[in-house]
Amino acid sequence: MHEKIVELQTLREALEKDISKADSPDSIEEVRVRYIGRKGSIADLFKQIGRVEPQIRGEFGKTLNSLKQFATAEIERKVKDLEQQETVAGVDPTLPPRPVAQGSYHPITLIEREVKRIFSRMGFAVMRGPEVEDVWHNFDALNTPEWHPSRDASDTLYLADVPDMLLRTETSPVQIRTMQAQKPPIRIVAPGRVFRNDKPDATHSPMFTQVEGLYVDKGVTFSDLKGTVLQFYRHLLGKNVVTRFRPHFFPFTEPSAEVDVSCPFCGGNGCRVCKQSGWIEVGGSGMVDPNVLETVGIDPEVYTGWAFGLGVERMTMLLYGVDDIRLFYENDIRFLQQFGGRR
Ligand SMILES: [Zn+2]
Repeated sequence: MHEKIVELQTLREALEKDISKADSPDSIEEVRVRYIGRKGSIADLFKQIGRVEPQIRGEFGKTLNSLKQFATAEIERKVKDLEQQETVAGVDPTLPPRPVAQGSYHPITLIEREVKRIFSRMGFAVMRGPEVEDVWHNFDALNTPEWHPSRDASDTLYLADVPDMLLRTETSPVQIRTMQAQKPPIRIVAPGRVFRNDKPDATHSPMFTQVEGLYVDKGVTFSDLKGTVLQFYRHLLGKNVVTRFRPHFFPFTEPSAEVDVSCPFCGGNGCRVCKQSGWIEVGGSGMVDPNVLETVGIDPEVYTGWAFGLGVERMTMLLYGVDDIRLFYENDIRFLQQFGGRR
């Protein structure tokens, strides 16, 4: 082989060694200048082409060109490698810190925690139960008559392949399970997901979150219920709200009442949120039906109790001015970030 071609091969080997030895942006830059810089060794060789003997000039030129391409590509690759290492190691102490992506609680979680916190302070324990329930715990034990429309498959989601099993329609089965397992006094709140055969729209979702409260002891009265519910809503919505109990029917309680609170936004004068009525409907309540106490083995001649429930999504929509329930389940981070922090 001609010595001029050997010279190019030797230079290529030296270049490879220098590139692999380079361990910093400065040292690879130095290699770049030395080999492919305007006054580097490759540029120098290009100047010599005219002086190379004619019979090998073609081969020399070709080899030199491919050496230049090789040098450019390899040096470029090394520069990128070193930059990446730099980033991983984070070695530049003069750069401002990278922002830390901070998570926040889901608005439903915020309100559920707030509800639990208020009841904990009043001496209530938090109980949870299965979301897949049997018909007995979800309906029969709760005194739901056979004819009640909520039992229908058009309202309730039954499991296709397991008879008498369903997705619970309330967290009330947790109350049944607690009363079966404990003797009074019982003071619990049961938060959790419940399911209905509903088509989703702005105010309905086939899955939503409920909190129910239960208090069973000797001498528990309707006025205890009214006092506790009032205190709860004053903690949650503001110390000036008042409550209103309207007679209603629920199978589980007798007597039963719907609970309204005075609108915390207009003080009861009427506004857009309360649809000018001054009142907002917030949930059901009542005295536990003696049939229910008997079913779970608690003597209704000795003990009485009350229960009440509220929808967490509804309360969250009210408190944060959210007008479509579906926003809670889309997990759009632009929506969820607006509720950052604690409540
Ligand atoms: Zn209002």
